Amino acid sequence: MFDIKNEIASLENELIALRRDFHEYPELGYQEFLTSKKVCGYLTALGLEDIKTVAKTGVSAILRGTKPGEGKTIMLRADMDALPVEEQTGLPFASKNKGVMHACGHDGHTAIQLIVAKVLAAHKDEFCGTVKFVFQPNEEEAGALDMINEGVLENPHVDAALALHLWSPIKTGCIGLSEGPILGTTEEFELEIIGKAGHTSTPHTAKDALLAACSVVNALQCLGTREFDPLLPIAVMFGYIHGGTARNIITDSVKMGGTIRFLFPDEEINKPKVLEAFERVIKGTCIALGVDYKIKYIPSNPSLFNDAKMVAIVKDAAAEVFGTRDNVENFRSLAGEDFAEFSQRVPSVMTWVGIADESKNSNFPHHHAKFDRDESMMKYGVELQVRSVLSYLK
Ligand SMILES: [Zn+2]
Ligand SMILES: [Zn+2]
Repeated sequence: MFDIKNEIASLENELIALRRDFHEYPELGYQEFLTSKKVCGYLTALGLEDIKTVAKTGVSAILRGTKPGEGKTIMLRADMDALPVEEQTGLPFASKNKGVMHACGHDGHTAIQLIVAKVLAAHKDEFCGTVKFVFQPNEEEAGALDMINEGVLENPHVDAALALHLWSPIKTGCIGLSEGPILGTTEEFELEIIGKAGHTSTPHTAKDALLAACSVVNALQCLGTREFDPLLPIAVMFGYIHGGTARNIITDSVKMGGTIRFLFPDEEINKPKVLEAFERVIKGTCIALGVDYKIKYIPSNPSLFNDAKMVAIVKDAAAEVFGTRDNVENFRSLAGEDFAEFSQRVPSVMTWVGIADESKNSNFPHHHAKFDRDESMMKYGVELQVRSVLSYLK
């Protein structure tokens, strides 16, 4: 076996340069044209096979091991999209694309996966079987399903899938890794409350959409305890509320949007129950206040399920990477991640790599305009993936 640690250490400058370049030119979901082009160019130079575009701006490529034997196929997935955020980090390589920022760390994921491909391509005699590298567009708006629908899990058939996320809620030097359902089901919604306009001096002649909207927001907070077991996490959150035009006019329309997130066992049975209760509370509140409503659901993420055997492989790899088993934390979150779509179809594992270091200002939450990452953790991400692949395909 080659000296994995030393080889990756020798590639750290390139790893950081790649991530900074992706950071400087961030692109929104399904607009990752430049990123996609750079990824294709890099993979071509490595000599990977069957490099192709999947789902508009996504890329997939194949690396076959040359060790004799019948091997399986493992997929590695990195996401490439940025967010509509105006960067405020002040970094020398801050975004050059106004209003767009890599505020979730996907620049790091793309760079890490390119270096993983480089290391494995140089050592394809060390494994039998196939590695499929998948660079995914539009994670923030559930792009995984488009890749799956375009056949990314076939030809060759994928037996298992790996992904990681750089994660600022976890301190640098640690990783989050648990088996079972680790991320919540997310359902996004848009809701309009429709009343009747009027003058604020004669509210009895109107139907106040604004009062009803406030009541709906409050009433929905009962779901976590009065509808479902308080020991099961569920969060109904509103991200925006727009309505009204003047201080003295009763508005007839309030538009709101938000997310429902929950982490329940038996997602298939429980999801319809959650949506039934959600809509019943809205409907009941609107009937009580004499207003109407319109609701629209936006397809989002199912629960992400980490396979126990795959978790064991990554935990063993982490012990080699860090020289200890003590830095693996249990991880569960209500965050949504569309890697969940892969995890619903093939045995999968997603690992959460801690990047929070106050002295490096890398402890801001994801999607924040000052979000940054402790770059020194990226090489561990590379090593974790390389070791996990070699272990799976040994
Ligand atoms: Zn994100
Ligand atoms: Zn993300």
